[in-house]
Amino acid sequence: MTGTIPFCDASTCVAKGCQPTLCKGAGIPSNEEMFQRSARSIPGGVNSSIRAFKSVGGTPYIVARAEGARVWDVESNELIDLVQSYGAVILGHAHPKVTAAIRDAAGDGTSYGAPTPREMKLAEAISERVPSCERVRFMNSGTESTSTAVRLARGATGRKRIVTFHGNFHGATDALLAAGGSGLATLGLPGTAGVPEEAVANTWVLPYNVVPQLDNDVAAVFVEPVAANMGVVAPAPGFLEGLRAECDRVGALLVFDEVITGFRLGLGGAQAKYDVRPDLTCFGKVIGGGLPIGALGGRKDIMENLTPLGSVFHAGTLAGNPIATAAGLAALNELTPDVYMELLARARALSAMLRDACSSEGIHAQFPVVGTLVGMHFGNSLHDAPTNFEEAKTTDEELFKKVFHGVLKAGVALPPGAYEALFVGLAHTDELMQQLAERVAKGLRGIAV
Ligand SMILES: *Cc1c(COP(=O)(O)O)cnc(C)c1O
Repeated sequence: MTGTIPFCDASTCVAKGCQPTLCKGAGIPSNEEMFQRSARSIPGGVNSSIRAFKSVGGTPYIVARAEGARVWDVESNELIDLVQSYGAVILGHAHPKVTAAIRDAAGDGTSYGAPTPREMKLAEAISERVPSCERVRFMNSGTESTSTAVRLARGATGRKRIVTFHGNFHGATDALLAAGGSGLATLGLPGTAGVPEEAVANTWVLPYNVVPQLDNDVAAVFVEPVAANMGVVAPAPGFLEGLRAECDRVGALLVFDEVITGFRLGLGGAQAKYDVRPDLTCFGKVIGGGLPIGALGGRKDIMENLTPLGSVFHAGTLAGNPIATAAGLAALNELTPDVYMELLARARALSAMLRDACSSEGIHAQFPVVGTLVGMHFGNSLHDAPTNFEEAKTTDEELFKKVFHGVLKAGVALPPGAYEALFVGLAHTDELMQQLAERVAKGLRGIAV
């Protein structure tokens, strides 16, 4: 492990207008100092809002490096990580195979403006594992995938209406920001500034887990087949099947946002687990092995509406990037059915450990498990795990804050928001889970008073 970061010392602090008093000593920057310095060039000091700790308070740890299930901040504090890039690094940080694939690819050049074998192989790998994806188009983020899906669904059907569900999150795209997922729920905003009414005039936001009656002006229904941005909420029996039937009845497209669940719940994602075939599927996170990527997959006849074959525009300078697709391929190659059996067991173990640790401290909390995903719900407002956004919102955010900071002090990184999912991956071995349990127990001590 490295010592200090050659970034900051007392003299450069002064030169840059930093407060040297925040330094941990000459040459060792503090999280506080670096966060304040970032905030002078980056709005709020972050490039994704949740990272700012706004909903839990305090200063974010600034990550210097990570390996496996651990991250180290700039002060060299080591944390056991349950964030895992919000699920993007399912093999753990800096997995040797992924790192090697990135190095190899980088040596061949980083982007060409021409088709490549690596994007072809990743598209084939996705189609093989997710049969509804007869064609796959790559882009650079989950957000790009959902926004392209909106345009494609409208272009392919000639309709405008989009249906979404309360508490589902589909990235930072205007048409789908009519109601928030984790980000907005955490910030407590009803919507977001900057989205004109017109942009969401054709977006309906309906209660999750209730099959709506649709009209034949609906272009597409967007759904997180397992909701993972309002805690973790399973689809009610019949919900996804009901959406499929209702979409078929009115000629609307069913779009599964599997940006989290894709290659997380299993090789075939939520659509395999629940045996419901969507028309379009959005991917991100896992399929890039921790590099920026998104993909839209789906029925051939629909996907062929995209340019250059059809008339729905899509393009991207870095789309299908050779390094991101190489990292994604390396990750998918490691993900065998056995791996998912392991992850299932670890998710259950994590949930049971957290439940026991909380209950022995008198902290009311639930940690619902859906496949390999683990959610959190604090307080005693619900008898069972939440089934929709209204129930999810009853979580005790103040209690979560205490838990968050308690375990952080003991060396455990939870996502800094009460509505996020917890992620275990290949790097969370039995030995590590044991260490995690000890830290959690220590971190929770005395919190409930
Ligand atoms: C993370 C996420 C997105 C957005 O993906 P980005 O890569 O952050 O743009 C979309 N939908 C769901 C369900 C997500 O969890």
